[in-house]
Amino acid sequence: MEHLWCWRCKMEVPMLNEDEHKMASKLYRHGFETGKCNMTRQERFKDLLEYYKELTDYEETEPNAIMHHRIELYGPPCESCSKPYRTPKASFCAACGHKRLNFLNNTILQNTEQKWWHKILTAN
Ligand SMILES: [Zn+2]
Ligand SMILES: [Zn+2]
Repeated sequence: MEHLWCWRCKMEVPMLNEDEHKMASKLYRHGFETGKCNMTRQERFKDLLEYYKELTDYEETEPNAIMHHRIELYGPPCESCSKPYRTPKASFCAACGHKRLNFLNNTILQNTEQKWWHKILTAN
C-alpha cells in the first residue's frame, strides 16, 4: 500500500500493490456473485470495503474506486511535481507538463543501437 495521487479522484488515496489488489479483486468478484439485487453497493461489497479499510485505514464507500486504486496502473512519480505519471508508459506529466526525459532516452537506447549523432542529440 502506498499513498499516491489518483487522476480520477483528483486527490491522494491509498493505492494497492499487486498482491493487495489481487485479494481486492477476489472480494469484488465475490460481491458480484453473492450479492442480491435488493442490496446497496455498500452491503454487496462489504467484504471488499472492510478489507480496504483494514489495509489502509481509509473508509471508502465506492467499490469501483478501490479497483482502480492499483499502483500498477500508474507510472512512477514525476521528477518535477512528484505526482505519478498517468500511466506507466506516459511520456510527459499530465499535471505539470514535465517531459519524461530519462524515459525517452532509455527507450531510444533500448530500441536502437547508439549512433554517432546521438551524442549531438543528447548534448542539446
Ligand atoms: Zn481514484
Ligand atoms: Zn509533473
